[in-house]
Amino acid sequence: MPLSELPSIVSCRRWAAQAFDLLWPPRCVFCGAEPPPAAGDERRRLAEVCEDCGRSLATGGSRCGRCGQPGDDDPCSRCGGRLGECAGIVVLGSYADAVRDAVLRAKRPAGDLLAAGLAALIVERHGDRLRSWRPDLVVPVPMHWTRRLVRGTSAADELARGVAAGLGLPVRRAVRRSRRTVMQNSLPRGDRRGNVAGAFRAGRGVAGRRVLVVDDVTTTGATLAACSAALLSAGATAVYAAVAARADTSDVP
Ligand SMILES: [Zn+2]
Ligand SMILES: [Zn+2]
Repeated sequence: MPLSELPSIVSCRRWAAQAFDLLWPPRCVFCGAEPPPAAGDERRRLAEVCEDCGRSLATGGSRCGRCGQPGDDDPCSRCGGRLGECAGIVVLGSYADAVRDAVLRAKRPAGDLLAAGLAALIVERHGDRLRSWRPDLVVPVPMHWTRRLVRGTSAADELARGVAAGLGLPVRRAVRRSRRTVMQNSLPRGDRRGNVAGAFRAGRGVAGRRVLVVDDVTTTGATLAACSAALLSAGATAVYAAVAARADTSDVP
């Protein structure tokens, strides 16, 4: 048999993947829907998300790419330095309903798959903008190690891993909390900037790099602003952000 007629490794892999799917059909990581939902290749590569869940989670609508507030103006007239020196942000959805539920589930131990699903949607919906920022590195907003010890997982880590995989970039925990802070959502909005100001330190590995910071939820933007300041003072040349959810209304913590 000529070499050209031998089944290629690629086609063998595809056949094996199809056989695997037949025996154990992939299910949507959010709702468990089966049979395998139709989805873009990019999304399927990271995590299975059905069309219905994709629609109900990507509720971000039109937003200012500089501060993340809802609206058609980009940049808007209300940015007001809320993200500090962070130069841009993408938001998957408003912190409400399905998105809030998915983010809370992703925070639990064994929530990794859900975080991967949210990351897949972020890359699918905002890949063009994320790539236009030309980041070199993806960095999760850190959880203090004592808190990580108790909870065993960080949704920001898992989200960052998924976003990095989707963009073909390295992910590195380059920012650390240098002191323990009070949970931001337990504080009035006016106190949050002071709570996290100077609370982060970035390693030398970010010098000369363009960094994409990833977190699960942003409210006032104070944490992203403080992380950006730490990264820039460690030599990063530009900082951008991607979050799964943004609390858009004042009644959400
Ligand atoms: Zn689903
Ligand atoms: Zn704005």
